[in-house]
Parts: sequence; C-alpha cells; structure tokens
Amino acid sequence: MAVTLGVPKETTETENRVALVPDVARQLIGRGMEVRMQPGAGAGAFFADGDYHDVRMVEEREDLYREADVLLKVQPPSLEEIDLLGPETAVLGLLDPLGSPERVSRLRDRGVTAFAMELVPRVARAQAMDALSSQASIAGYKAALMAADLAPRFFPMLTTAAGTVRPAKVLVLGAGVAGLQAIATSHRLGASVSAYDVRPETKDQVASLGATFLELGVGASAEGGYARELTEEEKRQEQELLADRIADMDVVISTAAVPGRKAPILVREADVTAMRPGSVIVDLAAETGGNCECTQAGETVRHEGVLVYGPRNVPGRLPVHASEMYARNLANFLDLLVRDGQWAPDWEDEVVAQTVLTREGSVVPETVRERVEGGAT
Ligand code: NAD
Repeated sequence: MAVTLGVPKETTETENRVALVPDVARQLIGRGMEVRMQPGAGAGAFFADGDYHDVRMVEEREDLYREADVLLKVQPPSLEEIDLLGPETAVLGLLDPLGSPERVSRLRDRGVTAFAMELVPRVARAQAMDALSSQASIAGYKAALMAADLAPRFFPMLTTAAGTVRPAKVLVLGAGVAGLQAIATSHRLGASVSAYDVRPETKDQVASLGATFLELGVGASAEGGYARELTEEEKRQEQELLADRIADMDVVISTAAVPGRKAPILVREADVTAMRPGSVIVDLAAETGGNCECTQAGETVRHEGVLVYGPRNVPGRLPVHASEMYARNLANFLDLLVRDGQWAPDWEDEVVAQTVLTREGSVVPETVRERVEGGAT
C-alpha cells in the first residue's frame, strides 16, 4: 500500500505556515505517495485548495488523522491531535522535543513514530533537510526589517539638500544562521553593521558580509557547530565587555541561543537604560527567554525611550517562502523513510536515527528521555 501523507490545517492560531506546498505535493505524488489535506490548510500561506492538484481534500479532521500513515506538521501536535492518531502513524514536524515532556510522553504512549525536525544532525548530507536553518534564515531577514520599521531613523546614509544623515549603527548578537541573515539584510539596507558571537569561527563569515566582528576574547565553541553555555564568570565578562558597545548602537538585533537551554542574557536592563532614546532592540530569542532582560515575548516594551521588541514565530510572518522551504526540508527527509512509495525507513542511517523522537513506545534521544522521565508523565 502506498504511504498516505496527511496535512492538517495548523491548529496554533498564529501559525500561517503549512507543511506542504503545491509543488512539493506534486513531487511526492510523483514518488508514489498519496496526499490528503484538510481544506484550507494552505490558506494562511496563500495556497488555495485548488492549487494542490491530485491531493484529496478530507473534510473531517478526525478522518484525516486516522487515515494518514504520515502526518506532516509545522507546529507540534496538541495532545488532542495526538489522540486522533492511530498507533501505526508517523509524525514529522518541528516538535519542540525539549519543550513539553507531556507531549512527548503522549506520543510515546500512543505508539506514534515521531520525527522532530529540530534533531536533524547538522552534517553536510542533511543540509537539505535542515528546517532549523531554513526557518532561521527567514527569521534573521525579517528581524532586520522589523528593526528598520521600528527605528525612528534611517538605516542608510543619505546625502540630501536637507543635510546628511549618518547610517544607523546596528549590532547583531549571535552570528549563526539567523544572525548572518540579519547582518546581510541590515547591510543591504545601508546600516553600519557590527556583530558578535562566542564562536570565533564566525569572524570570517561576519566580515564576508561587510560587517565588523567585535573581538571580546570570550570563546565557547562546542560540538556540532553550536556554542556551549558559558560559565557564570564568562557570562559576566561577556556582559561587561558588550555594555560599552551596546550603549553606542542605534539598533541591536539579538539571536544568541544554546540548544536546549534558556537564551543567554547579553543585554542587561542597565545596558538598555544606557542606550540613546529612540534606540531599538529586536530580540529573536524572545520565545526562549530572551537575550535582553527587558524582553517580553510577543510585546514591544518601551524602556526609558528604548523600544524592545520580542517577536514570536517570526518565520510564520513570511509564510509563503517559509512553507516552501520547510516543505522541501520535509520532502528531502521523507526520501530516507519512503522507498518506491512504501514505508521503509533505514533505521541505521544516522540522520534517521538521530531525528527519531519516539518509536515503539520509547522516547529515543537520551536527553529528551531524561527530561520526560524526570518530569510528571
Ligand atoms: P543557534 O540558533 O543555536 O544559536 C545562534 C547563535 O548564537 C550561534 O551562532 C551561537 O554561537 C550564538 N551564541 C550562543 N551563545 C552565545 C553567547 N553567549 N553570546 C553570543 N553568541 C552566542 O545556532 P544556529 O544558527 O542554529 O547554528 C549554529 C551553527 O551551526 C551555524 O552557524 C553553523 O556553523 C552550524 N550549522 C551547520 C549546518 C550544517 O553543517 N548542515 C547547518 C546549520 C548550521
């Protein structure tokens, strides 16, 4: 029997992305899979039901979940959605594996085979499946536009009959995937950009985008291209060294993250107070606690004349391209799970093995299992 993919409308109210776009649906059908969708699933991303050729629209959500062999999601399924799934079902999505032990234990107990796209290892072969990167690049681009929109000043230098305007000074904290896009976009808008990251290897990438790398002498690279969490002493040192630089900025875009941890605080309340009135901070780490002490997720806070914005779900604000890129990530990952239209995962493949979250009634990654078993399940 051909694998049936099910694509529901996302249940999170603010989510406009969809897990499958028409072009990718066509490719998957061409590879022997069957696709079923909930009517209106693509509407938030401007894809009409009629754009999905050869896809069967299933009116009843319960039927869609029950009939799917593989459910394709953007956001993690709610407990109610998990309960609609049959035990033989697989789920692919951004499942926030460390965010909700209750959800992971429900997937486990339901016997669902769940793949968390966040767990795709960052090896060269898996780049085309790397949803964290595709969505982070969108977030970085949009963060720069949000900062430009909030700022009460120009980003570029302007020479006009009414005088010369100096370019805005933008500091990007964290030069990972999102940070590099924020740097590139701010630079394209004409700002004078500097950036900082604890991974010294980002220095050349920052420079190649036309920005200045701040040398603070705090280095913390870890395995897999990520940063490690700083010690308390290093954190204090980093904050002290950044303070003077921040005070001189018109805009700070912060993107610093350590996987599985609360976001590091890089901008203290006193640093915000020291900024000039009319300065702007856009904190992309808002959903994991924020890089700035004044950040409130989903809000724009005015702190002594400085605007601090902590947007939520930034990739969801560019739903067309975010959905297209995400759907391609999923389709590339499905290549490892489905052969000739049949469910045939290669469990020995390191990308499959590292991405699986729950299988055959167990939580697979040790770090997640410890958290699930440590909490109330
Ligand atoms: P991330 O979202 O986990 O973190 C964002 C940035 O914050 C990182 O660059 C990190 O070094 C930085 N950071 C953490 N703590 C900090 C602190 N205290 N101060 C300043 N900066 C801090 O990272 P990401 O963007 O998802 O990716 C990190 C890196 O992984 C990439 O830049 C790249 O080198 C690597 N990567 C590899 C692949 C691949 O090979 N397939 C794909 C994507 C990313």
